Amino acid sequence: MKNTIKKSLFLVSTFLLIFLLIIHIGKLTSVSNEKPKSVILIIGDGMGLPIITAYDYYKSEYKKQGYSNFSKFDGSFLVRTRSQDYVITDSAAGATAFAVGKRVPNYQVGIIENGNRVPTIMDIAKKMGKSTGLVVECTLTHATPAAFYSYSKSRTDDDNIARQFIYSNIDIAIGGGFEIFKPYINHLEKMGYTIIYGEEKLPDIAKSGKYYEKLVLFTAKNHPPRYKERKVHLDVKTEYALSMLSRNKNGFFLMVEASQIDWYGHENKLQEQLDEMEDLDKLLDVALSYHQRNPNTLVIVISDHDCGGLTLIDKKAKFFSLDFKINYSSDYHTAEHIVGFYKGSIKVNPIIDNTEIYKILHEYIKGMI
Ligand SMILES: [Zn+2]
Repeated sequence: MKNTIKKSLFLVSTFLLIFLLIIHIGKLTSVSNEKPKSVILIIGDGMGLPIITAYDYYKSEYKKQGYSNFSKFDGSFLVRTRSQDYVITDSAAGATAFAVGKRVPNYQVGIIENGNRVPTIMDIAKKMGKSTGLVVECTLTHATPAAFYSYSKSRTDDDNIARQFIYSNIDIAIGGGFEIFKPYINHLEKMGYTIIYGEEKLPDIAKSGKYYEKLVLFTAKNHPPRYKERKVHLDVKTEYALSMLSRNKNGFFLMVEASQIDWYGHENKLQEQLDEMEDLDKLLDVALSYHQRNPNTLVIVISDHDCGGLTLIDKKAKFFSLDFKINYSSDYHTAEHIVGFYKGSIKVNPIIDNTEIYKILHEYIKGMI
């Protein structure tokens, strides 16, 4: 009898020990899963708070599809957007603040110090053994993407910027500008890039699970057309870039730009701005679900500046519709702070300078957050 009790006590304590061990191992694994690994930086060019507000109501009250995906983030913050020389920034100085962490004069992308280009956050990620990618709805040499891999005093020097792209070591780039890169296609191929022209080819490539060592997918000869005329949208492009980049066990840095929110802000066209916002909102679904599967990824949504000075002024409207009375006060950018959103374990102050985005990203990929 005594022996049986001893035996069962032994069995119970052994099971208990195994149970505790499993919990411990589980904890350890979840800790290592949390270690910062990858970054998805999403830039809505010209995406001020008014167009976020308008889109939020447009989606929920006009389209009756619920609130925008911005509400699914962990937190938000305001950003001071000024450049080195003006209170109102342009996209070149705005993107350089995010990419290099310093304010430069308007129209300049990147920074030169002692004759060398200062490494961008993408160069740093690459040096750490991560993969890098760009997905944009403008040419690959336009101000925002250019700030992540080049230096030019003038953002419009496309040829100079394209030549710098060749040596950027970026693993996947999806965007317009085939005409600009035409003289350098051989050079790109020599650097190991596969060149594909035509975004309509992407869904089949993605479906077949085909990956490339390095890929430039040109979506247009110059700038891609507007949302309704594009055949493949940011969600599909981002999904493919993520599946290609996430094969690197060291992680990745991906910058995605909803480039044209800004353009229709300049033109004061609300419907087109809302369409471009829809493109971004659908891309947020992809980014958030990637984060859910890979919590060691930081997702930041940010804008470089507001554009158009939209105000929503219909005091008689009980619901948002396309007849809602609005006013645009400018055909250029405005100085208002913009709103940033984050998903992931970071700490951020309520109002930050645009250059602090760089610091947050830098500290995250270094595992200092
Ligand atoms: Zn603009």
